Amino acid sequence: MRPAIFLDRDGTIIEQVHHLNRVEDVAVYPFAADALREFQAAGFATVIVTNQSAIGRGLLDEAGLEQIHDEMFRQLGSRQCIDRIYYSTSVPVSGDPRVVEDAWRKPGPGMLERAAEELGIELNESWMIGDAISDMLAGRNAGCRGTVLVRTGYGHRITQADPAIDYTTDNLLTAAHLIKLACASSQSSKSPSLSE
Ligand SMILES: [Mg+2]
Repeated sequence: MRPAIFLDRDGTIIEQVHHLNRVEDVAVYPFAADALREFQAAGFATVIVTNQSAIGRGLLDEAGLEQIHDEMFRQLGSRQCIDRIYYSTSVPVSGDPRVVEDAWRKPGPGMLERAAEELGIELNESWMIGDAISDMLAGRNAGCRGTVLVRTGYGHRITQADPAIDYTTDNLLTAAHLIKLACASSQSSKSPSLSE
């Protein structure tokens, strides 16, 4: 069993493009590869969990999604920096990012729970990072240890505190630093010599 970093894709690893369906629109953030390397070096599995309603809407097919991911990996410089990708193709009905209409689509916990089963992930030691409330809630609903909102993508629009958000930070790389600090301080607080 090991912990994971669950990662939203659009607005977190690559630039937010509404219903991204063209390879030429894939733009990996310049800090993403370093962040992913830091997570893996710290012992986390790196798992993308992404809502791709473009498929359910008929704007993209699964072969097109694979081409988009090939381009993402090309720009990241490695396929090894991501351990697994899960995606939901369903189209939301209510438009409310807080409502779980389908357990497999964020804010539902389904993709994270499947990853836990398939990859041996310890959810309560894992973190969810994304640029939307639905990402934060997916992490909550799956019982993750923490959630981190990044200010890239749609994240800059979220200005109010929200119980689903544990931390807010600039981007994926600063999220990596923040999580490492949080893990280090919880380890030291467990240490008997420091807890008194
Ligand atoms: Mg996003």
